Amino acid sequence: MPATRILVVEDQNIIALDLQSRLTGLGYEVPVILARGEEAVLHCQADLPDLILMDIRLKGQVDGIQAAERIRTFADLPIIYLTAHSDDQTLARAQQTEPHGYLLKPFEDRELRLTIEIALYKHRMERQLRDNERWLGAVLRGIGEGVIASDVQGIVRLVNPVAADLIGRSAADVVGRPIADVFTVVDAQTRAPLPNPLLQAIGEQKSVTLPERALLLSGDGREIPIDDSAALIHDSRSRIAGAVLVFRDITERLRTEQQLRHLAYHDELTGLPNRALFQILTQRAVTEAQRSGGRVGVIFLDLDRFKMVNDSLGHSVGDRLLSAVAARLSAVLPPGAMLARFGGDEFTLLLEALPGPEGASGLSERILAALAAPFELIDQEFYVGASIGISLFPEDGSDAATLIRNADAALYRVKDRGRNGYAFYQAEMNAGALSRLALEAQLRHALERGEFALHYQPRVDLMSGHIRGVEALIRWNQPEVGLIAPLQFLGLAEETGLILPIGAWVLETACRQARTWRETGLPDLRVAVNLSNRQFRHPDLIDTIASILAETGLPAPALELEMTETIVMHDRLDAIAKIKALKQMGVRLAIDDFGTGYSSLEYIKLFQVDALKIDRAFVRNAHVNKEDAAIIQAVVTLAHSLNLDVTAEGIETPEQQLCMTTCLCDEGQGYLFGRPMTPEAFTQAMAQLAAPASAPLA
Ligand code: C2E
Ligand code: MG
Ligand code: MG
Repeated sequence: MPATRILVVEDQNIIALDLQSRLTGLGYEVPVILARGEEAVLHCQADLPDLILMDIRLKGQVDGIQAAERIRTFADLPIIYLTAHSDDQTLARAQQTEPHGYLLKPFEDRELRLTIEIALYKHRMERQLRDNERWLGAVLRGIGEGVIASDVQGIVRLVNPVAADLIGRSAADVVGRPIADVFTVVDAQTRAPLPNPLLQAIGEQKSVTLPERALLLSGDGREIPIDDSAALIHDSRSRIAGAVLVFRDITERLRTEQQLRHLAYHDELTGLPNRALFQILTQRAVTEAQRSGGRVGVIFLDLDRFKMVNDSLGHSVGDRLLSAVAARLSAVLPPGAMLARFGGDEFTLLLEALPGPEGASGLSERILAALAAPFELIDQEFYVGASIGISLFPEDGSDAATLIRNADAALYRVKDRGRNGYAFYQAEMNAGALSRLALEAQLRHALERGEFALHYQPRVDLMSGHIRGVEALIRWNQPEVGLIAPLQFLGLAEETGLILPIGAWVLETACRQARTWRETGLPDLRVAVNLSNRQFRHPDLIDTIASILAETGLPAPALELEMTETIVMHDRLDAIAKIKALKQMGVRLAIDDFGTGYSSLEYIKLFQVDALKIDRAFVRNAHVNKEDAAIIQAVVTLAHSLNLDVTAEGIETPEQQLCMTTCLCDEGQGYLFGRPMTPEAFTQAMAQLAAPASAPLA
C-alpha cells in the first residue's frame, strides 16, 4: 500500500519542518508544506492529498478554517486542525466544517499518529456508508418491486418509488407515518381486512407472506392485487429493529394465468370445455360417484355429415355449423350435465348423479331431435344428424379414460349400423351378451380350450410404404357368443389376474409367429405385443420375456412391447428398473395410445422408450382440425429430438395418411393399410405384395 500523503499547512516554518520530519519518521509522506490558506486551496485543486493537517491561524486573507471550507466544496478528504490555543468562538467555527480531529501544539508522536489514523478511519467509514446508501438508493429506485420498511413501532422509515406509486401517495407523505395508515390490504373475495404484514412480522417475530388473493387499497382509489413478503430487520445486537415489506402488482400475472387456464381448457370456437377439461371433470365425477355410490354417464356424439359440409363449403361454414350445433346441444342440456367439444366434430357430455340408464337414453333422444331440424347456413338448409354412444359408471368402466373409450366404441357401432341413433356400450356386447359372472367363468377356461387367437395388423413405413412390422391383437372366439373384441374382456382379465397366463400366451404365440415370418421371406419383420399394467407390474415379467425369447428364438430387437403411460401410476422406481432391464435385453419399448394419459414427454425421456404411438383420437381429425394437427406436429418434433420413432394409429383414409406423412410421423397403422388379420391372411397378403401385380392389403 502506498504511504499516506499528508499536506501540512502551517505558517510557522520551524513547526512545519518539525512536523514534516516527525511524520516522515512515522512512515507518512509529506510532499509539500504550505504557509497560506489560498495556496492550500489552489494546491488541492491540482493535486489532492490523502489528509490535511491545517493550522487554524494562518497569516493572510484566508485562515485555516476558511481554507478548509473552500476545499470541502470540491473535495472529500479528512482535515485535522492544528491549534495552539482554543478560544470557544474559533472552535465553534472550526466545528462547523466537520473536521476529522484536532491536534494541540506541541505535538507528541503518539498523539499525532493516533489522531491521523482515527481521522483516516473515520473518513473511510463515512465514505463507505455514503457508498452503501448510494447503492441502496439505486437498487431501491431500480427494482420493479415496491419496498417499504418500518421501525419496530411500525413507523415508515423508507419507501421506494414503486411502493409509493402503488400505495398512491408521495414518498414524502408516507415516511414518518404509521404503516397501518398508509398500507391497507383486504381479501379480494370477502373484502375482509387482512393483517398488515409488517406489523404481523414484527408481532410474530418471523417472516410472513400475504395470503393469496390480497388486494391493496391504494390511496388514489385503485384496488391492486399484490403478492408480498415481509422480513424482519435486526440491529447489530440481533434485536428486531423493524421490518421490510417487498410487494408487487400481480394484475398482469393474474390476467395471463386466467387466459392460459381458459385457453388450455376451453375450445376457442365454441367456448365449451375441451377434451382435457372433460377428462379431468369426468375423472372427478367418477371418483365422487365411487365414494357416494352414485352413477355417472358419458355420452359421446359425432356428427354424421359434418365432413361433407366442411369439405365442400369450407372451414368457416364448418365452424359456423359447429357453433350452431353447440348452441342446440346447450339448449337441451339438463341441470348438472356438462357439454364439451372433444375435438373436430365430436362432442361429449358428462351426466353426474344419473338415477339410471334412462336418463342418458332420454337425453340422447332429445339431442337427436334437436339436431334433426335443418341448419341454415349461407341461405341453404343442411341436415347433419349425429351418432351417439353411451357408457355408464360403474357398469362400463371404473375410470374416465375407459368410460370415454367405451362410449366412443358404442358410437362406432351406431355408425356401423347406419348412423343417426344412439347405443349403450353394454348393448354392443355380442348378441345374448353374457353376464359378467358367466363371462368370467368362460374366460377361466378359454385358454385351455384354445379359444384365443391372435390377429396381426400391419405397420407401415410412411415414407417408403414398406411394411415394417405387425401388431399382435388378441381375439376370443367364444363358442356361445362368437368373436369377442379385446376391450370387452381384457378389463375382466386384468381384474381377475387371468391376464397373466393370457398375456404370456400372447407373447409366446406372437414371438413364435414372428420368428416363422422372419425365416420365410420377411427377415426384418418386427412384432409388437401389448402389455397390460398387471403384466408389467408382475415380478416375473423380465424372466418370462427372456425365456419366451430364448424358447422361440426371436431376436430381442424384433420384439416391441407396447405399454400405456399409466404404468407410471404405480411404482415408478420399479417401472424404471424393469424398463432398464428390458432395454438391456435389447427389446424395443413403445408407449401406446399416447395423448390419452399424462402425455408427458418427461416421463418418456425418463423411461427411455424407443417409440410413441399417437392415439387414434388425434389422428382421426388431424387433417381437418388444426389443433389436433398442431399437437401431432409438436409431439413428433419433440419425440424426434429424443430419438423416438412415432407411429400414427388408426389411419383410415388417404387424407389422414397424407396429414401424418406431412407431420413427419415415421410409421402408420390403420384400416387403410390393413385390418387386423389372421396369420394366414397376413402371409397371403405378403405373398401377393411380393408378386409382380400387387394389390393393396385388404
Ligand atoms: P391398441 O393397442 O391401441 O390397438 C389398436 C386398436 O385399434 C385395435 O383394436 C385395432 O383393431 C384398432 N384399429 C387399428 N386401426 C384402426 C383404424 O384404422 N380404425 C379404427 N377405428 N380402429 C383401428 P382392438 O384389436 O379392438 O384392440 C383394442 C385394444 O385392446 C388395443 O388397443 C390394446 O390396448 C388391447 N389389446 C389387444 N390385444 C391385446 C393383448 O394381447 N394384450 C393386451 N394387454 N392388450 C391387448
Ligand atoms: Mg397397441
Ligand atoms: Mg393404441
